[in-house]
Amino acid sequence: MRRLTAEQQQEIAAQRGATHQTRRATVPALEATLYEPLPVLDHGFVRVVDYMGDDAAIVQAARVSYGRGTRKVSEDQGLINYLMRHRHTTPFEMCEIKYHVKLPIFVARQWIRHRTANVNEYSARYSILDKEFYIPDPEHLAVQTTTNRQGRGAAIAGEAAQRVLDLLRRDAENAYMGYSELLNENASGSPTDPAQPGLARELARINLSLGFYTQWYWKTDLHNLMHFLSLRADPHAQYEIRAYAEVMLETLKRWVPMAHAAFREYRMNAATISATGIEVIRRMLAGEQVDQPSSGLSPREWRELMAVLGQGAQR
Ligand SMILES: Cc1cc2nc3c(=O)[nH]c(=O)nc-3n(C[C@H](O)[C@H](O)[C@H](O)COP(=O)(O)OP(=O)(O)OC[C@H]3O[C@@H](n4cnc5c(N)ncnc54)[C@H](O)[C@@H]3O)c2cc1C
Repeated sequence: MRRLTAEQQQEIAAQRGATHQTRRATVPALEATLYEPLPVLDHGFVRVVDYMGDDAAIVQAARVSYGRGTRKVSEDQGLINYLMRHRHTTPFEMCEIKYHVKLPIFVARQWIRHRTANVNEYSARYSILDKEFYIPDPEHLAVQTTTNRQGRGAAIAGEAAQRVLDLLRRDAENAYMGYSELLNENASGSPTDPAQPGLARELARINLSLGFYTQWYWKTDLHNLMHFLSLRADPHAQYEIRAYAEVMLETLKRWVPMAHAAFREYRMNAATISATGIEVIRRMLAGEQVDQPSSGLSPREWRELMAVLGQGAQR
């Protein structure tokens, strides 16, 4: 398993070996892992390569709107919680973070839909892609779910799982073999077969499949990062992008622990309840037996509300 090239490893060692003096706020817990690749999936990683601001920067920006500042750290957490609860989002935009991510192309296609980040991707027109493709761990192989068009159902195990894995590997190997043949270029850049032309890199790549890895630099502000994480660290997100989001959540915790705590409390582990849903809860609290047909909610909404309330859907 090779996540990083020798040059990338050297670059990271050099970056981690150097320190710079600054008057700007830094966050020791994030500095401790700065530049380090945090492994995701079989060949991927996420690493924080730069950041600006900390919890105090959120508080400082909020003070501009509210005049008098908070004075104690406990008040800072209270203020950040208030901002999060009331969707006063701009103070969170004062913090920025830049990641270097290595990810399969199908994950990148979901990720790129988050338009509020700045992205610079590895160019397969300019450089040759490595022979690295994603093969799921056997525990993540599952059949198509029947209850929801998007998602996975029961696990696939044993011989059937082995067949799937063999097929995925065989097709990816074949695709890379074709790619190499079309490029007709060895490691030193000279033709493998001098009798054949080497196809342009921008064309040779077109047969590679969605499991191959790409890389990018991805920079965003804290508000948009939390929006990304609220969608992609959610159980409804596909496992593979969720694996990245979960590692990024850990970087969020290191970087802005107060914002992270507020995010978990008021966004990730919170729920939005419709007007009819609130009415159902009120009726239940008043002792009324409410069931789905009498609730005014669709069966799906009813199941979702009961899940939020930790109740069996049959009620
Ligand atoms: C579980 C799941 C399933 C999905 N399934 C599908 C699918 O089947 N097909 C599909 O195409 N996509 C799908 N998506 C992608 C989804 O529709 C969004 O495109 C993606 O999550 C990015 O969200 P966003 O637009 O809020 O983020 P960002 O692009 O980061 O935007 C953040 C916010 O900025 C505002 N904004 C940004 N750009 C604009 C704009 N041009 N106009 C107006 N407001 C803007 C919006 O308020 C937006 O919420 C899915 C996403 C998830 C999480």
